[in-house]
Amino acid sequence: MQYPGKGPAVTVIQRYTTSTLVILLLFIGLQGCAVCLPSVFYDLEAYRLYRVSDLPLTIYHLEEDQGVLPLVEAAVRAGLVKASRWGTLSRPVIVTVYPNHLELEKAVQRRGYPWLKAWATADGISLQSPRSWPLLKEEHLFQLMAHELTHVVHYQTAGITGLEGARKDPFWFGEGLASFTAGQDAGRYDAKTLLRKLKWHRDFDPLSPTPEDIRVRQKLSYSSAHHLVGYLIGNFGDQAVRKLLARMAAGESFRRAFERTYALSPERFRDRWLQWLESVAAARAGAQVDHRPSASVVRSSRLYYDGDAQRCVHESSDGKP
Ligand SMILES: [Zn+2]
Repeated sequence: MQYPGKGPAVTVIQRYTTSTLVILLLFIGLQGCAVCLPSVFYDLEAYRLYRVSDLPLTIYHLEEDQGVLPLVEAAVRAGLVKASRWGTLSRPVIVTVYPNHLELEKAVQRRGYPWLKAWATADGISLQSPRSWPLLKEEHLFQLMAHELTHVVHYQTAGITGLEGARKDPFWFGEGLASFTAGQDAGRYDAKTLLRKLKWHRDFDPLSPTPEDIRVRQKLSYSSAHHLVGYLIGNFGDQAVRKLLARMAAGESFRRAFERTYALSPERFRDRWLQWLESVAAARAGAQVDHRPSASVVRSSRLYYDGDAQRCVHESSDGKP
């Protein structure tokens, strides 16, 4: 989960001096988060620092979460491998482990998101301690960290910081990229179910869900984003995504960068995607439909998105896996 520019202030930690704290808060302000500092200050003395060796990454945690550190570190390492599909970390990242859901919501200044487990900005990830998850499945933690680290790499690669993110980077692209990269298919609607839901919720636009949509239609919002990006990558490949991020890093808006990279507007792309969803639904009903995109859609890429398996099928060595 992420909202650029709305991220939590980084938690402050044991043994930091006052001057270090001031510098840290100034840094946060420069990142556009000065207006969204946590409403509650935590017991600063209680947080401990754990450096992940060989990575520009630090984990802050309470003593009671010491036991989950090996699991969190393993999930971070594995997640970073997946996220590196889109770039590398150019700046240090701080992962703060909050002891429970309430503390996480306080830190990210959100209320009423019971499904929220983590939150990412360009410089940090706020994580609800896996120790407090009602049902902890290691697989879900690994997927979650891959998801959040994809946000971090995405933001750092595209040069997205602070409030400009909301303008440059729409929800569907950021969340879809994170969800698809992390392989969170199991938590999303399959293509046929998604199409049915979209026809039911006619006021819902997959390209621009409202904050209320995201809160109360969470699965619809994230499933749409997941499949939009899956279809995008399936048709145009990884290299096009990296080009898009590079254009944004050079100062272009998301729309401008998207139109230059894919030679079509996001709205036109959405309409093609909806046609593809229809074809998948028709195929499931017994019609003979080729899931692969038409020749006019395929350009440099020879990948296609296998909607039934909900995975990206690699037919060539286009880009990185
Ligand atoms: Zn996310």
